[in-house]
Amino acid sequence: MSRPIRALIHPEALGHNHSILRRHAGEASLWAVVKANAYGHGLLRAAQSLAGVADGYAVLEMAEAQALRNAGLDHPILLLEGYFSADELPAIAELGLTPVIHSRRQLQWLEESRLARPIPVYLKLNSGMNRLGLPVVDVPQALLRLSRLPQVAGVTLMSHFAEADGERGIEAPLARFQALHEGSGLAKSLANSATLLRYPGVAGGKGDWARPGIALYGASPMPGWVSAAELGLLPAMSLLSEIIAVQDIRPGERVGYGGLFQAEKPMRVGVVACGYADGYPRHAPTGTPLSVAGRRTRTLGRVSMDMLAADLTDIPEAGIGAPVVLWGGAGEARVPADEVATAAGTIAYELFCALAPRVPVLTA
Ligand SMILES: *Cc1c(COP(=O)(O)O)cnc(C)c1O
Repeated sequence: MSRPIRALIHPEALGHNHSILRRHAGEASLWAVVKANAYGHGLLRAAQSLAGVADGYAVLEMAEAQALRNAGLDHPILLLEGYFSADELPAIAELGLTPVIHSRRQLQWLEESRLARPIPVYLKLNSGMNRLGLPVVDVPQALLRLSRLPQVAGVTLMSHFAEADGERGIEAPLARFQALHEGSGLAKSLANSATLLRYPGVAGGKGDWARPGIALYGASPMPGWVSAAELGLLPAMSLLSEIIAVQDIRPGERVGYGGLFQAEKPMRVGVVACGYADGYPRHAPTGTPLSVAGRRTRTLGRVSMDMLAADLTDIPEAGIGAPVVLWGGAGEARVPADEVATAAGTIAYELFCALAPRVPVLTA
């Protein structure tokens, strides 16, 4: 048998999570955000699992859009950062994509283009995050310029919130957006997962679009406040492996590089075939949750490149070959990715995206 680590993707969980988001979105449509290889879940696997329910897909790069079209998916596709140079515009029209326009440069490229057919565009305004988007004062002029272009088939006004999951929330940036949007008659797109789940009304109504990503994959967009389970979300990825060795250690003995963990009593240590070269976070300290043979336990000591240690002291039945859930899983064996991420000082987004190419990804 080969090295036992693998990531199992659960298509029915994707569908279930989409239905939860749909409930929050009311009449608004949903872009299923499948950028970054669908947050590590596999672009085509995730997109095909959602093909029957998603209103459209949101991606970052032309190559992702092209792959979706090659797979026969004819849904609307949003390019979240638009085009990176003018020469992408003809293919955007050809493939029927919807680019975001977030800069004057992009607007100018569009004005100078000749396209085979008109394209719908999203105009992104900077509502305070200061990442992408036109300054608020430039938006009326940009809208006017877009309205004169025969290559534009319709404009949606868009923004993105920096603190939808935080204390300050979205009040101030939303007010900036609304001041421009009110009375414009334009469709809007504002809500990522956190906004959609925390402020469902903001998603809008018929013709408006929300853009959920992380919640589709079953992690909470605000893990400090509300768990994925409390939101009714199911993990779409399980990172699984097995115990490949067991060490019985005496009090005073240490485990792993740096000897960071020292036993105070006799212990059983299981060695798991999973390390940071698989994408497991090296910063996960002793105590990070995982489950072995269906029972929840904790990591011990430092994560190695190819292995980590699990406390089997209270799981005497678990020996070599015992199944391990690093995150995901079901029932008693469930380990929320959010809890692993929090222990390691990161977020589930990063765990999923960091899954290493050497880990086989299979459909459950
Ligand atoms: C990635 C992204 C999203 C999805 O965000 P989640 O927090 O994963 O729901 C939405 N909008 C934009 C502009 C993004 O870049």
